[in-house]
Amino acid sequence: MKVEIDPHAGFCFGVRKAVQSAEEILTAEGSLFCLGDLVHNEEELLRLRALGLKTINHEEFESLRNCKVLIRAHGEPPETYWTARQNNIDLIDATCPVVLKLQGKIEKSYREIKDHDGQLVIFGKKSHAEVRGLEGQTGYKAIVIEKMDDLDKLDYTKPIHLYAQTTMNREDYKLVIKEVTNRIERSGGNAEKFHCTQSICQQVSGRISLLTDFCRRFDCILFVSSPKSSNGRILFEECKRLKSGSYFVTGPGDVQPQWFENVSSVGITGATSTPVWLMEKIALHVKNRTK
Ligand code: SF4
Repeated sequence: MKVEIDPHAGFCFGVRKAVQSAEEILTAEGSLFCLGDLVHNEEELLRLRALGLKTINHEEFESLRNCKVLIRAHGEPPETYWTARQNNIDLIDATCPVVLKLQGKIEKSYREIKDHDGQLVIFGKKSHAEVRGLEGQTGYKAIVIEKMDDLDKLDYTKPIHLYAQTTMNREDYKLVIKEVTNRIERSGGNAEKFHCTQSICQQVSGRISLLTDFCRRFDCILFVSSPKSSNGRILFEECKRLKSGSYFVTGPGDVQPQWFENVSSVGITGATSTPVWLMEKIALHVKNRTK
């Protein structure tokens, strides 16, 4: 049985940088608070927890004083920084540079349109930490749209500035842009007052074309991720579209022997939050089971 790990899978640079920051402090100090899950991957979280990483929520964060807290790659809204200053918390800011740049653009864009009765719109998952950080740049005045029906919330006669969460599907974002354009036309709005920004991260969108080549080379694909990972869901959908024998696994325990009947090659890939060591563990498990 041929078993190969996708060379393009594994942490994106934003997650890698955040995990490295945590590891450096944990090695030197033995413990560290992290605001929210550092990565959307339970196995990696268990590893980091064993090194001394303690995940806290926002309520717990507000009760802390005089300590270090890591901000993960998803970023945080401005009030997190205010609280840290007030409570003498030393923030280790591992916000991904791509997210940081997007936060800055949204903050500037909102300042420009708010006095012109404009709407700052974010295409993303309302419950996602990155979206909360982006909404925070507008004082939570941004309109978040998750699906086409949510577009009914917009007034197409007024200015619209549209952005997307960095891990959304590029094709879905194109459909949203097209629909907004159509609705502006139907409402007699001014198309020049509609600005859309390409804000989807290349680390996610670039993976889709690379997945096409990878999936084609194998009879069966194991996609390693956590159900919590937003880009994991998008990339797995793509795998299923490309290869019917694609399976979502969180660890070796999910692997089913019947998947490998009449199969001579298995490709292992994952999300931008999937550690390489976990894919290696699964590859070894598959090799041992199919000897
Ligand atoms: S997917 Fe892109 S934006 Fe998100 S953490 Fe990774 S590099 Fe940064």
